[in-house]
Amino acid sequence: MNKLLSFVSTPQAFPDIKAAELRRQDFKEIYGDFDPRTAAIQASRCSQCGVPFCQIHCPLGNNIPDWLKLTAEGRLEEAYWMSSATNTFPEICGRICPQDRLCEGNCVIEKDFESVTIGSVEKYITETAFQMGWVKPPRPASENGLSVGIVGAGPAGLAAADMLRRKGYEVHIYDRYDRVGGLLIYGIPNFKLEKHVVERRRALLEDAGIVFHLNFQVGKDASLEELRARHTSLLIATGVYKAREIDIPDTSLAGIFPALDYLIASNRVCLGDKVKEYDRGTLNAHGKHVVVIGGGDTAMDCVRTAVRQGAAHVTCLYRRDRANMPGSAREVKNAEAEGVEFLWLSAPKAFVGNRKVEKMLAVKMRLGTPDASGRQTAIPVENSQFTLRADMVIKALGFDAEDIPAAFGAPALKLSKWGTLAVDKNQMTTLPGVFAAGDIVRGASLVVWAIRDGRDAAAGMDAWMKSNHLRLRHPAA
Ligand code: FAD
Ligand code: SF4
Ligand code: SF4
Repeated sequence: MNKLLSFVSTPQAFPDIKAAELRRQDFKEIYGDFDPRTAAIQASRCSQCGVPFCQIHCPLGNNIPDWLKLTAEGRLEEAYWMSSATNTFPEICGRICPQDRLCEGNCVIEKDFESVTIGSVEKYITETAFQMGWVKPPRPASENGLSVGIVGAGPAGLAAADMLRRKGYEVHIYDRYDRVGGLLIYGIPNFKLEKHVVERRRALLEDAGIVFHLNFQVGKDASLEELRARHTSLLIATGVYKAREIDIPDTSLAGIFPALDYLIASNRVCLGDKVKEYDRGTLNAHGKHVVVIGGGDTAMDCVRTAVRQGAAHVTCLYRRDRANMPGSAREVKNAEAEGVEFLWLSAPKAFVGNRKVEKMLAVKMRLGTPDASGRQTAIPVENSQFTLRADMVIKALGFDAEDIPAAFGAPALKLSKWGTLAVDKNQMTTLPGVFAAGDIVRGASLVVWAIRDGRDAAAGMDAWMKSNHLRLRHPAA
């Protein structure tokens, strides 16, 4: 058993990370696993704060100090039960949460001693649970005879499905893709999250009796009204996929791609699918000078994918500075180590080429006063134009929600001012019994928030069905 509060004498340690030169050669995850001894020692660094800021800044409110204590004491099965009580997919969050901005970035010992490595311990606990057979399909004790439909098999939809199935609902999930996982499968690359980790969860959900209807696009294969007629309650968890555009000359030249087209192609290739655009060399960075525009997680995934595809040179262009970029600082560090060049305070001005992009004109920027959102505006610096070679350009400028009321033929669904679905405090939309969760409510966000929303929506749906449906069936009740 390890004594707690050992942070004064024990330095912070992460699981081994593969050398950058090796990382560039394949798409495998770059972090190894803790061994039992190191996990216990690292967990014992926790000072068991009276007010645990790590927990406050975890979107799921994970009971971090308690499962760290149990890990330090070698009581891993209890640690697993505690960690999985608040998190549906702890092994996924342990891998891909931007911990430096969430739990670890707010760890009380961070300032003087470097944070407890919370995410790596969370992953270790759950991977151990899988190895030991402690992770079971979310089967209910009994069926309750009510049926729910979930549109979208991303983390928000899957988290809600898990909760609702445990409560005895028949759960049907509809997704337009051919695989389960949403952006966990087709957005996030393998080097952050290998796909067998998602596949393992799909198998458990299926074992529990959850039914997946894949290659099924709501709005095309069925309207929302048709699904409402099939199920007692519905959840919309369709994510946000409308790529933001860039308003400069010649965006129609060949060789300029939206980030998700590029990442989906690469993820499909890694999954063993035949992708024509990749084989033909179009959606493939091999041997090219690649410029990625943007500074978020998606941009980081694109630059690192291009490196692994064997690009000749990869540049990331971002209009603000390093301190103001939205992506995880840890991912920037990883990208730099893998050979990506970052041009901070730089913005694109025009693409140049003869039918196909050859160069990009860019300008230097400076930061001005904060705007209404509190972020400093980026202002072009006069006479600062420069040119970059660009055989391939990837636009990673963020995503907006598609018009769901129009796409689903459901004009009664109200939108927020950002174009996402408006919901009440129980995640219910303006259509009774129709709930929404994840990016389609929040805008492009994080997996951990999608899980949180999915769990909240499941609670809201359960409460709504129990009161309304039972009352309708038994008016005297
Ligand atoms: P999604 O994961 O987008 O799932 C929505 C599902 O709905 C999809 O499967 C889609 O096919 C389906 N769907 C959509 N429309 C229909 C329809 N009409 N009919 C049927 N099905 C439909 N977050 C992190 O926390 N860490 C990261 O490292 C990270 N990296 C990212 C990298 C990239 C490239 C991107 C794009 C995002 C990343 N994110 C990351 C954000 C994270 O992936 C999302 O916040 C999260 O997946 C949102 O979950 P969701 O369930 O709301 O939507
Ligand atoms: Fe940290 Fe994410 Fe785990 Fe919460 S879910 S403890 S934020 S890694
Ligand atoms: Fe432990 Fe850090 Fe959380 Fe405090 S903030 S309880 S030291 S992990």
